[in-house]
Amino acid sequence: MEKRGILLVVSGFSGAGKGTLMKELLRRYENYALSVSATTRKPREGEEEGREYFFKTREEFERMIADGELIEHACYVGNYYGTPKAYVEQKLCEGQDVILEIEIQGARKVKEQFPDTVLLFVSPPGADELKRRLTKRGTESPEVIANRLNRAVQEAEGIEDYDYFVINDDLDACVEYVHRIVQCEHSRTSRCGEQIENIRRELTAFSK
Ligand code: 5GP
Repeated sequence: MEKRGILLVVSGFSGAGKGTLMKELLRRYENYALSVSATTRKPREGEEEGREYFFKTREEFERMIADGELIEHACYVGNYYGTPKAYVEQKLCEGQDVILEIEIQGARKVKEQFPDTVLLFVSPPGADELKRRLTKRGTESPEVIANRLNRAVQEAEGIEDYDYFVINDDLDACVEYVHRIVQCEHSRTSRCGEQIENIRRELTAFSK
C-alpha cells in the first residue's frame, strides 16, 4: 500500500511570496499536489477558473458548506475561501504531499481535524519588504493593500500556532528549505509505522 502523503498548510502575510514559492516547489519536485480552493473573491487579471481558484458566488459557496464539501472555510477581508475535501483526500491516499495555501483561521481548523498536519508560516524578511511586494503586485487598490497590512498585524499574533517559521528572502534557498522540512517530516516515527513493523518482523524471523 502507498504510504499516505503529508498534509501541509502554508500560510503567511498576503504578499509574503507563498504563491511563487509553492509554484516553484511543485515545478521542482513530483511528490507535491496543490489544493485549489473555492472563493467568492473576483478573479484578478490573469487568474483562471480551476487553476488559481474555483470562483463561486456567495450562494454557490454557501451550498458547498451546507453539503459538507469543504474541509474548512474562512472569511478573509470580506470574502469566503474554502478547501474542497475530495481532491485532498484522493491525493493523500495516492501518497502525494498536499499543500493547502490558506490563512490562519483555516490553518487552525485543519490542525484540529487532522493533528498530524504540518503547519508552515512564511514571512518576508521585514515589514517594509512586505509593503513593497504588495504595492508592486499592482493588482490591488490602496484600500485593499491597507486592509491586507492591517490583517497582517492580526496574523502575526498567531505565528506560534505554526510548526515552522520560514523566511522567504531568497526564493531558491527557501524552496529547498521547505522541501527539506517535508523530507524530515516523512521520517517521523509516527509516520513510519508500517516500515517499523516490517523491520521488527524481519528481525524476529531472523532471530528464530
Ligand atoms: P488571495 O485573495 O490573496 O488569493 O488570498 C487571500 C488569503 O486567503 C490568503 O492568505 C490565502 O492563503 C487565503 N486562502 C486561500 N484559499 C483559502 C482556503 O481555501 N481557505 C482559507 N481558510 N484561506 C484561504
